[in-house]
Amino acid sequence: MQILENEPMNMHTSFRVGGPARFFVKAESIDDLKQALTFATEKGLPHFILGNGTNLLVSDKGYEGVVITLAGDFAKIEDLGNGIFKAGAAVPLGRFARMALKQGYAGIHKLAGIPGTLGGAIYMNAGAYGQEIGAHCTQVTSLDASGNICERTTDDCSFGYRQSIFQKTGGAQAETILSATFQLESGSLAGESLEQTVARLEAELQECMAKRKATQPLNMPNAGSTFKRMERGSIEMPQQIAPGYYIEQAGLKGHCIGGAEVSTLHANFIVNAGGATAKDILDLSDYVKASVAKKFGVELQREIVLLGEF
Ligand SMILES: Cc1cc2nc3c(=O)[nH]c(=O)nc-3n(C[C@H](O)[C@H](O)[C@H](O)COP(=O)(O)OP(=O)(O)OC[C@H]3O[C@@H](n4cnc5c(N)ncnc54)[C@H](O)[C@@H]3O)c2cc1C
Repeated sequence: MQILENEPMNMHTSFRVGGPARFFVKAESIDDLKQALTFATEKGLPHFILGNGTNLLVSDKGYEGVVITLAGDFAKIEDLGNGIFKAGAAVPLGRFARMALKQGYAGIHKLAGIPGTLGGAIYMNAGAYGQEIGAHCTQVTSLDASGNICERTTDDCSFGYRQSIFQKTGGAQAETILSATFQLESGSLAGESLEQTVARLEAELQECMAKRKATQPLNMPNAGSTFKRMERGSIEMPQQIAPGYYIEQAGLKGHCIGGAEVSTLHANFIVNAGGATAKDILDLSDYVKASVAKKFGVELQREIVLLGEF
């Protein structure tokens, strides 16, 4: 197992910003992961589990700890039959969602456009277009910082809107999500062949992808929604609860601090418009939060995870 030193984190985040991680380890097996955790403990450093870095803002000063990313054994999907799948935390969510769709399973197919890993999706309880990863997950296996395996049922995971139990076991004692098991339902309608079901689910996915393309600044570095919705909303009335509505009404679309910009396409996205620092992005999100609070009395809650000292 290779341990890299001072690895630039801008290479590992979708914002393309962030200073160096003191140590950076790719764990390809449980043994690697345990070694990495022991290494962190021996050095007296905290550790951080990195997925695809698509919901993450790393400080320009970097992270004085051990960043651990998963690969190898953690990138496998097992088909256990009857719609039951066990997928490793390093599996790209898009790959898993598409694989299920191709077999005619519905429920997570609209999540295929989310650019993170399965581990990151479980941690965040990622969701889109009325679907959420936690809704179909029956069990999550994780490893605590002392090297003990933990098995949790759905109820134990406390999934809520962009929430899971794993956010509460964070910090230096963070648990590593290793894999999750899913029970997926057949998407087939009465009288439909498998080919017809797959074609219909694919069409639904393509509709979601087209919406993403039309409404999200996918050609600029970003980390998805900056702020969470205030409460679980409906697709029919998104403007009632979506932070983007308040941000736009506050006249902040296109507002810049340094190289960070409130997207002109989607007000709840901050983009790296060129040469942004992590501080620019954080300052801009703080400014947006303060402006919306002042104008509407609404307290926005950050969705993006921060790493390091700002
Ligand atoms: C263009 C774009 C569109 C997006 N659209 C959506 C969307 O529609 N819906 C949505 O919910 N999100 C969306 N996101 C945000 C993001 O993709 C999701 O939150 C995703 O689930 C994060 O996964 P990740 O692997 O990138 O996690 P990271 O960003 O690497 O990490 C996020 C958090 O998860 C933790 N984590 C990651 N893996 C593990 C693990 N194995 N064990 C323990 N903790 C772990 C990290 O420690 C960190 O705290 C979007 C992002 C972008 C850039």
